[in-house]
Amino acid sequence: MSNITLTIIKPDAVAKGHTGKIIDHIIGAGFKVRAMKMIHMNDREAGGFYDVHRERPFFNDLVSFMTSGPCVPMVLEKDNAVTDFRGVIGATNPKEAAEGTIRNLYADSIEANAIHGSDSDENARREASYFFSELEIF
Ligand code: GDP
Ligand code: MG
Repeated sequence: MSNITLTIIKPDAVAKGHTGKIIDHIIGAGFKVRAMKMIHMNDREAGGFYDVHRERPFFNDLVSFMTSGPCVPMVLEKDNAVTDFRGVIGATNPKEAAEGTIRNLYADSIEANAIHGSDSDENARREASYFFSELEIF
């Protein structure tokens, strides 16, 4: 399955009131929303999601940031979803994110960078099932 990706509108963007504009941007880029919810993660949930980064120096800061307020995970569908969505969000560091990308428009820093996007089809499936059951994905 190469047609889904998992995104999270991160706590910085939710807190600043950008949720609606970001969803509109995503739909305007051709993605269908297959599942969506607003949650406030605890340390275990955020740490589990970012398990691959557990040994990185920024891991504890990343977990603090991701648990700082509510966020909005979504399953998105489109042909070539993973690659196309990475293009829509832009580089991890908003200073390097291309003009008009979501991180260029809404992110403040390399950590508080507004939005997540899966980096492979395998991780998209793992991340979608991290937040949603089969029955919640339409
Ligand atoms: P992404 O796939 O573009 O989200 O980037 P990564 O998978 O490399 O990193 C995951 C998340 O960790 C990023 O989206 C940032 O929120 C955060 N992050 C990445 N690099 C850094 C860093 O150097 N410092 C800090 N504080 N956070 C970082
Ligand atoms: Mg990543």
